[in-house]
Amino acid sequence: MNEATTISTEARRDFLNRPAEADLSAAYAFGGGTIERRAEGRTEESVAAALGSRDARVLIFRGDQAALNGGSAYFTRAQALAAGADARGIILLGYENDAPVLAATIPLEPAEVTGITLRDIRGVAIEGLVPGSELGAIALGRSLTNWHQRHGFCANCGAATRITNGGFRRDCPNCGAQHFPRTDPVAIMLAVRGDQCVLGRSPRFPAAFFSCLAGFVEPGETIEAAVRRETNEEAGITIGRVRYFASQPWPFPSSLMIGCHAEALTTDIVRDEAELSDCRWFSRAEVKTMIARTHGDGLFLPPPFAIAHQLIKAWAEYE
Ligand SMILES: [Zn+2]
Repeated sequence: MNEATTISTEARRDFLNRPAEADLSAAYAFGGGTIERRAEGRTEESVAAALGSRDARVLIFRGDQAALNGGSAYFTRAQALAAGADARGIILLGYENDAPVLAATIPLEPAEVTGITLRDIRGVAIEGLVPGSELGAIALGRSLTNWHQRHGFCANCGAATRITNGGFRRDCPNCGAQHFPRTDPVAIMLAVRGDQCVLGRSPRFPAAFFSCLAGFVEPGETIEAAVRRETNEEAGITIGRVRYFASQPWPFPSSLMIGCHAEALTTDIVRDEAELSDCRWFSRAEVKTMIARTHGDGLFLPPPFAIAHQLIKAWAEYE
């Protein structure tokens, strides 16, 4: 008799009390990275060898765009330099099958770069234009290259900093401060109560598009506290139990989306009018039509590559 059959029918139907699922995070876009970072083994010599290796595979970024090379985002080092990458700014993400994986950035001008196709990173994910492991590498590379672009100067003394450890640190030669790339945790949650869940829409969203509520985890706050605070601030709903579901790197530029389901203890919605243009309860049946894109009023959800979609789907399809 497996564990699922030993719990009562009533308990099994309690979504927040369901049996544990496997780690789902790697199944979502940007979560399937397979790069070995080898942080402990990084020396000046090993980094220099990797950056100069003829076997290196290079991701090329320009703003929120990644370069595509057929069905892959990997180029040779020579191709990256020919496309305009500054050799001094190339960083070492890690290794795949012992081959170094590097990231390079090219300038925003000129708009057309001979020999490469540039695509918006969200579009690359939505359309599945590269293998999942490369999307994971793109998330890492995009977050790191963006961090370097914005952290050229020491936050402590203002002097110019320099790339260290192949790109996982910047050091200040003036005051000695070490600066590390940051990851910004975001709690994204689906508040549920029986057969109903809460969805909202930001004024920035396309019309008819609804999603989970979300917000940055603040300093000194747990994930659970962030879920309760954000849901209360944005929708006026009091949250009881919080259950972690899965997470997703979100390289715009460096968020980690932490997906949770949350038990709504109250039903009255008091919408934060600055954050949300609409927020209401949806039934399971209505949500299922949004997943299937058959909703009578054309309401729809984020695409399957986004963790919001998976949070909503996991609840909607739970029997
Ligand atoms: Zn400094």
